[in-house]
Amino acid sequence: MENKDNQEIKSNKQYHPQMHSAEHILNQTMVRIFNCGRSFSNHIEKKKSKCDYHFNRNLTQQEIEEIVLKVNEVIRQDLVVAEEFYSKQEAEIKFNLSKLPDDAGDKIRIIKIGEYDACPCSGQHVSNTKEIGTFKIISTDFNEDVLRLRFKLL
Ligand SMILES: [Zn+2]
Repeated sequence: MENKDNQEIKSNKQYHPQMHSAEHILNQTMVRIFNCGRSFSNHIEKKKSKCDYHFNRNLTQQEIEEIVLKVNEVIRQDLVVAEEFYSKQEAEIKFNLSKLPDDAGDKIRIIKIGEYDACPCSGQHVSNTKEIGTFKIISTDFNEDVLRLRFKLL
């Protein structure tokens, strides 16, 4: 890869790769189960992380368990996490680029987690989902149309 490309995709945030990769899977799981958008705001840290979603209520215990089950099922499939590059034009057709920073450049980096998730991202990821560990939701709360999920990895 050329140096220039590297700089274009370089993120200011240094994410925790395991947590951040879990976030990708969680977001896709939320989209699939609830048809909501991916988290619009998040805070990713080694010990615990949180993701915020535009939502209309809090989750039931059953729904929380469903999410946890699904995320761990994906993690345990030992899926390869791969990066692919697309032109901006191509990426706009195939993916949702709404969260892309304006200065992202013309080469768009898409992170694919097996066939489960594909999302533009400049962060750091594990190379295989088996590196993530076990996903656990610590708590959820709902306030002013925002659902917050707090989670950790064991
Ligand atoms: Zn990412």
